[in-house]
Amino acid sequence: MASFYIINFGCRATQADGGEIEQALRAQRYVKANGLEDANVVVLNTCTVTAAADRDARQTIRRVQRQNPTAKIVVTGCYAQRAPEEILEMPGVHFVVGNSHKDRLVEIVDARLQGFATEGSPVHEGTDRNEGLSCTAEVYVEGFSRRERIPFVSQTFFGAADRTRPSLKIQDGCDANCSFCIIPTVRGRSRSLDPIEVKKQVAALAAQGYREVVLSGIHLGSYGRDRGDGSTLLKLLESLEEIEELGRIRLSSIEPLEVNAALISHVAQSKKFAKHFHVPMQSGVDRILRAMRRPYTSAQYAEVVSSIRENIPDAAIGADVITGFPGETEFEHRSTLEFVEASPLTYLHVFSFSPRPGTPAALMRGSIAPETMKRRSGELRQLGLKKKLGFQQEMVGRILSAVTLDRAGNDLTEAMSSNFLEIRIEGSRLAPNLFLDVEVKAIENSVLLGTVRKAGPSVV
Ligand code: SF4
Repeated sequence: MASFYIINFGCRATQADGGEIEQALRAQRYVKANGLEDANVVVLNTCTVTAAADRDARQTIRRVQRQNPTAKIVVTGCYAQRAPEEILEMPGVHFVVGNSHKDRLVEIVDARLQGFATEGSPVHEGTDRNEGLSCTAEVYVEGFSRRERIPFVSQTFFGAADRTRPSLKIQDGCDANCSFCIIPTVRGRSRSLDPIEVKKQVAALAAQGYREVVLSGIHLGSYGRDRGDGSTLLKLLESLEEIEELGRIRLSSIEPLEVNAALISHVAQSKKFAKHFHVPMQSGVDRILRAMRRPYTSAQYAEVVSSIRENIPDAAIGADVITGFPGETEFEHRSTLEFVEASPLTYLHVFSFSPRPGTPAALMRGSIAPETMKRRSGELRQLGLKKKLGFQQEMVGRILSAVTLDRAGNDLTEAMSSNFLEIRIEGSRLAPNLFLDVEVKAIENSVLLGTVRKAGPSVV
């Protein structure tokens, strides 16, 4: 019986795709190997959001080849879709399967391993960049010109270190046009899972005992628009409230203009929705936002996050920020720092700008020197930590609702609060997936410490 090992990179949507591949391999009677050294097939499910993500994938391909030279290496995901030729240059790769063929990955690989071909494979047409390749691997990548053909299969998945808080991918692709972003090219147009199916899957997770479910997607706020049946994210959230066994629901991320008054008010009065919004900001400067083709101004962004804070005083509010966008001046960088400082944001995810071939921003003049980029991202990260610490300090002495986590190899009980703070709980190890009210006593090594005030089902 053949064995497999999957290495996932990147965002929650990519992790979800890895879950789909795992399920499909199991359905074909493949067994999961204990480590990559033991696997007959190693799948690298890649990300391409930055140059660093590409580099990680290439390093990992080399490592897999060193550690398991006989394995069939399959490279899939966004990097495989964007630049199959770069991957083909690497020795040891047997299959390159883009997102366009991800749903057929197992069929393709299995057919080859069994010694028979699949219909219409390998695919070299549909995108100029595949022409003339003298490949040693089989390449399955088509362009996304016939986007309606891209399939969408939802899949529940877990983070690498935690078997609690499952994520459910309910949306894929993106119709927006941000000048720095390669995602629409490698994932195609936005498409959403049927709301009835979402409800069924969330209810099944709740029935299995999971207390918190995270809804994920590439552009979650656009949920439902492609369906033409009146579905919206808000209607979906309202219907999920009806699932009695469901404890808590959380959104992975939502674009600023999609956080409207109705959604904020729903979350404010909801007994089940986590007090947490992750709202990508990218820059606090209007000129940069325009160059990024982000559809809002810094004032609009400020209004959204202020409205969240006013209506939900304890909410965690996170943001993505890109530093070193082409032409970003020192004054503009300082302005973004001041903007963040004055905002109610409680944490930051900071990314250094990375030109993605095929995007408008990759052709823009005014690239920022690496040492300047490093300093600016360091300053933003420091500010992010300061904001987080300030938020944690506000929580000392408070009672927070939290779900216990399942962290392998850990003797402590760790929990995630509704407002997205990790809490270490004093005393013996508690089972995962419990709802607790925890009194926050102190902060130690950047983590909250607390004691249990009330166990069992609880409201947020
Ligand atoms: S909203 Fe913009 S940054 Fe986000 S996936 Fe779409 S194009 Fe990329």
